[in-house]
Amino acid sequence: MFLLIVIYLLLAVGVAFLGQNRKIGFTQSFGLSLFLTPIVGLMIVAHSTKKITYFEYQYHCPRCGYNFTEERSVCPYCEKAGHSIPLIREEVTTT
Ligand SMILES: [Zn+2]
Repeated sequence: MFLLIVIYLLLAVGVAFLGQNRKIGFTQSFGLSLFLTPIVGLMIVAHSTKKITYFEYQYHCPRCGYNFTEERSVCPYCEKAGHSIPLIREEVTTT
């Protein structure tokens, strides 16, 4: 009996690990597997959409504070005003 509980818990943890890369997340997958059996939990996790993280770069001008999405070496607005300001590359994450 004890062994069955251990196997059940291990299965629930396994489903939770599968769920951590999904929208549903680790804790919710674990909770569902625990209360609705790991088989039901696995089915819910499989139907949950995958979490996708996008990285993009933004180019920030320290003088005028403007952000550019395309790659530039100097700020075109400050360049017009006679200043050659190198842009700072920043990583932006969106989900
Ligand atoms: Zn600027």
